[in-house]
Amino acid sequence: TAGLDGKVAFVTGGSRGIGEAVALRLAEDGADVALTYRNSPVRAADVVDRIKALGRRAWAVQADSADPVAVRAAVGQAAAEFGRLDIVVNNAGIGVFGPVEDLSLEDIDRVLNINVRAPLVVAQAAVQHMVAGGRIINIGSCMAERVAFPGGSLYSTSKTALTGLTRALARELGPRGITANLVHPGPTETEMNPAEGPAADMQKGLTALGHYGQPSDVAATVAHLAGESGRYITGATIAVDGGFAA
Ligand code: NDP
Repeated sequence: TAGLDGKVAFVTGGSRGIGEAVALRLAEDGADVALTYRNSPVRAADVVDRIKALGRRAWAVQADSADPVAVRAAVGQAAAEFGRLDIVVNNAGIGVFGPVEDLSLEDIDRVLNINVRAPLVVAQAAVQHMVAGGRIINIGSCMAERVAFPGGSLYSTSKTALTGLTRALARELGPRGITANLVHPGPTETEMNPAEGPAADMQKGLTALGHYGQPSDVAATVAHLAGESGRYITGATIAVDGGFAA
């Protein structure tokens, strides 16, 4: 039997990229999966179908992470749908890059709302449904450890906030047997960051390994944290970044 049999996972932004890989990996390991998306109902439905083909339950709901009411409702609906929540993965995120003086207030609010406020609201809503053995896993970025090129002031601000959130949740929820950890992907081949995109060679050159990672590489570490293997890891930040921060 797989390690996550009987567990229920909630993954934000599970329709594409790293979130899709995480949702599928947790299902492969035995979990039932609820996922959110914003723009991609067809892609989300496809992920649901592939999880069901693995013999797990799956459920997708449109919930814009910029809308805290929608996000909170999605957590509650997922808990009602599956009767419990064990693994929460805050993955949905966006990047707006550019010179600091060019960032609009709308850009700033949008990135902070999606990348910071939503993970906090999700955690807040989810812990009401979680018991000992629960896992909160936030997806940050290597740009929180090393800002290796200009234009990242907003994105790095948002991702660095997850360090404080993760550590505070670990302290607060530890007595309840719930862990909280942060995974920092490096350049990972997704639609957000295509491995053949205009900034790809620059990013490859900033890693120690010299190439992009795959969404499944990040998902493997999420699965490690989510499983019994992660039971004594909390408040930690784990890089899956090809040595970007080395
Ligand atoms: P993608 O843009 O490829 O996919 C983003 C996913 O998040 C999609 O499922 C998308 O849903 C969802 N999403 C985006 N905005 C919202 C929103 N407002 N509400 C709900 N869902 C939303 O990104 P990646 O897979 O590359 O990135 C995933 C996470 O990893 C992000 O937090 C990102 O910052 C982080 N990361 C990525 C790196 C990379 O190189 N790829 C490097 C470091 C960190 P929909 O399909 O509906 O749009």
